[in-house]
Amino acid sequence: MSEAEVRPLYPFHPYAWQHDVWLRLASLADTSRLPHALLLSGHAGIGKQRLALAFAARLLCHAPTTQGACGVCKSCQLLSYGTHPDFVWLVPETDAKTEKTAKYIKVDQIRELVGFAEKSAQLGGYRVVIIEPAHLLNVQAANALLKTLEEPGRHTLIMLLSAQPLSLSATIRSRCQQIALAVPDSAEALAWLSPQVRDEAVARLLLGLSDGAPLAALALRDALWFGERERLLKDLLALREGRQSALMAAQHWHGLGAEAVLPALASMTEDVAMLASGATLVKHRDLAPIIAAVAKLVSAAAVLGFRQGLAEKQRLLSGNVQGNALLDAAFSEWAALARAH
Ligand SMILES: [Zn+2]
Repeated sequence: MSEAEVRPLYPFHPYAWQHDVWLRLASLADTSRLPHALLLSGHAGIGKQRLALAFAARLLCHAPTTQGACGVCKSCQLLSYGTHPDFVWLVPETDAKTEKTAKYIKVDQIRELVGFAEKSAQLGGYRVVIIEPAHLLNVQAANALLKTLEEPGRHTLIMLLSAQPLSLSATIRSRCQQIALAVPDSAEALAWLSPQVRDEAVARLLLGLSDGAPLAALALRDALWFGERERLLKDLLALREGRQSALMAAQHWHGLGAEAVLPALASMTEDVAMLASGATLVKHRDLAPIIAAVAKLVSAAAVLGFRQGLAEKQRLLSGNVQGNALLDAAFSEWAALARAH
């Protein structure tokens, strides 16, 4: 298969649930009321990136329609090949050797961008910049961006994408027109997700666990831990019943890794905490009976404390702390939690 055949298609169109915001953006473009900078904010997994890429394509396209970019003109072809001279998509850098992605967008990246924004468009139309996720601009990078945000060259649009817009400095936010994207309504989200997971009940479960964000729900289906939920809960139950040792349990989960298991523990114990504090509904609905059995064996306050410890472990994991040691600690702490009264 040639490279062109395996390359994912450039998304020339937004998701169906983005129809209204798409029309709003298109109308800004068609009536020349487009600001220099847009801040697209909203929950992770609702398609901010897709919307921004599709809108960039429409602005750059030589023959756009209300539906979006044509997909065949020279500009659209260059976008498909990732070689459009008037388009920059800025994300935290990934080291080619270690494959580690930087925690921040660095000031050097913004300095390059400033040069780009000052030049004129090579294809004679717009220049478009997407910065994602914008809350990962470090302080220096944010400062370097300010002037460009205020007065980029003519026909330049900078789109900042963020699920945490309040983490951006007030000065950055004040220079952008903010468009807050909502989570799609559940019927639209289900209509998109159900055919992909081929089971409406699973689609509902995944959406419930992802706060209704369709892309997050699809990613969850593919998450390493999703198929292991029952086993994990059974281990949590066995530990509370004293039928298993914490280290034995932890050792099994070393195989999956702390990156997968810590979020799984956080998600499962969120449900346990809900039931332990008297609620009756859980998010992992298919596993409600086991969750209820676990919740009977632990006090609500203890689960909350455990969950704070998990959040801390997830922070440590992004540092240099060994994942397996964190898992050992988590399972030991779980086994030692105070019992329900
Ligand atoms: Zn086109």
